[in-house]
Amino acid sequence: MINPFSNLGISDDVVNAIKDLGFENPTPIQEQSIPVLLEGSNDFVGLAQTGTGKTAAFGLPLLELIDFSIRKPQALVLCPTRELCLQITGDIRNFSKNIPGANVVAVYGGANIVQQLREIRQGVQIVVATPGRMLDIIRRKAIDFSDVSYVVLDEADEMLNMGFQEDINDILSTTPDDKKTWLFSATMPPEVRRIARNYMEDPVELTMGTKNTGNVNIEHEYYIVRARDKYAALKRIVDFNPEIFGVVFCKTKIDTQEVAEHLIKDGYNADALHGDLSQQQRDKVMQRFRDRSMQLLIATDVAARGIDVNNVTHVINYALPDEVESYTHRSGRTGRAGKTGVSICIINSKELGKIRQIEKIIGKKFTKADLPTGFDVCEKQLFALVHKVHNVEVNEAQIEQYIPRIMDEFSELSKEEVIKRFASLEFNRFLEYYKNAPDLNVSEERRGEHGERPERGSRVRNDDGYTRMFINLGSVDDFTRGDLLSFVCNNGKISGKSIGKIDLKGVYSFFDIENTAVDGLLNNFRNVDFNGRGVRIEQTAEGESKSRGGGSYNGSKRRDGERKSFGGKRESGRREGGSNGGFRDYSGRSREERHGKRESGRRR
Ligand code: AMP
Repeated sequence: MINPFSNLGISDDVVNAIKDLGFENPTPIQEQSIPVLLEGSNDFVGLAQTGTGKTAAFGLPLLELIDFSIRKPQALVLCPTRELCLQITGDIRNFSKNIPGANVVAVYGGANIVQQLREIRQGVQIVVATPGRMLDIIRRKAIDFSDVSYVVLDEADEMLNMGFQEDINDILSTTPDDKKTWLFSATMPPEVRRIARNYMEDPVELTMGTKNTGNVNIEHEYYIVRARDKYAALKRIVDFNPEIFGVVFCKTKIDTQEVAEHLIKDGYNADALHGDLSQQQRDKVMQRFRDRSMQLLIATDVAARGIDVNNVTHVINYALPDEVESYTHRSGRTGRAGKTGVSICIINSKELGKIRQIEKIIGKKFTKADLPTGFDVCEKQLFALVHKVHNVEVNEAQIEQYIPRIMDEFSELSKEEVIKRFASLEFNRFLEYYKNAPDLNVSEERRGEHGERPERGSRVRNDDGYTRMFINLGSVDDFTRGDLLSFVCNNGKISGKSIGKIDLKGVYSFFDIENTAVDGLLNNFRNVDFNGRGVRIEQTAEGESKSRGGGSYNGSKRRDGERKSFGGKRESGRREGGSNGGFRDYSGRSREERHGKRESGRRR
């Protein structure tokens, strides 16, 4: 049988190379665009999502059209990010591994320019570049584009979003007028249209799926929760999907860092990716994610651009993007290469309008989903464990020596008893963790009622995801509520948004803080001093009974016992559903004694 790629006009060297990569059949975008691009005589606009195989869709035709006996740049691929640049370069190098003399160079910022200049000098036919660094090299007159016949603008909408319009103009002006331009974009906003109009002549247009439509392999779901329950909802979604390999999108770098830190503290295999990390740190995080030694990548839109990792099972929009168009890019991180994926939005009821806007853009309906109950999670985890046990690879050689002793230990128990006990070992932990877990769902009918955190100072109830804290500063220290707020936020490195009601007293005060922010505050708020006096923050006894997830703090390290839970997760004393709230008194004194002592100590 003739290889389907040969049928499309791809030469044997390349067909053999992509066979090694497991490409047996062309993806729809490859099937449609390869024959058009192979002609080499058209400008081209391809409306396609990431993950659809578009790198090969333009990469394979380029390899057929370029004369590799000439060691001069003949094709330039521009893309928005370093990650994508490296990805494309790697892919094209793989595709061309059997072509003698083929050279591809990656040109991107944040890396040694000298090395890139050296590679260019050695003679390359394909340059894959991010616009900023490319322009830098052009301005140094270190590259000659006079033989460039093809320019590919990959993820054109993203490049424009990132403000590269001017750079692209300048770069294109150094390439020959008769070159062909191939533009790929996930969406087609007017700015991209304008590029197509200004730089292309009668381009062949191909749309994969309907215009602006998201990948058909992606299911879109939303969950409505109270704003303060977002984190608990995230955890529940993750717990309900034991095999999750996902990207969680937050709006800001701070949120990204905070959510990642909370997840890590709660024993999840997560890390943050945002612009405040050094390139080296970002590379490390991405490497761990690619290797799948991390399950959850918490990222900002900008940092996540160009993440091309296959087999991402879930994209979770912890916060909806400001620009609804960005949703397409976010969700496109899953459902790649023909796989299915789920894109989830955790929203409050006021954000339903935005969901409807996104539906229009992606041309697809969202499903309103209900967060699983604690019991659902337990059941799911139990059977995940059962499957794991069933499928585990047994190292016969290693385990053999212990078998007689193990059999001996179990000699009293029937097979059923042994199985029951193995399963209970983990099941009990999850049952314990999720006992009394509240229903986090908010119905659409209650729209607007619980969408937002109540105004500071107006809330009297405290059983709603907030923890009540004590601080030994008050009005006698000339503090207003505003002063106290900024003092706590600055020293505790937390956002003012997580603070609720503040009760300013004389020598001390109370304030409410979102449960999810308690650990961060207590960890950061160390050795704080006010006018030479040590400032202490503690969770109140009131907070213990009222908060659902109160942590504890004894002035030094967390001491709430760490336990292994299902899936190898560490489960801290902070629990979502437990009524005991994890508060512990490590001093050996009663709470009344501690508070009494503190008060009298202040009065002295
Ligand atoms: P891309 O959209 O180019 O980033 O491709 C997404 C993923 O699909 C990459 O991991 C490619 O290696 C893979 N891929 C692309 N084309 C094919 C194909 N024809 N068969 C199998 N996998 C492919």
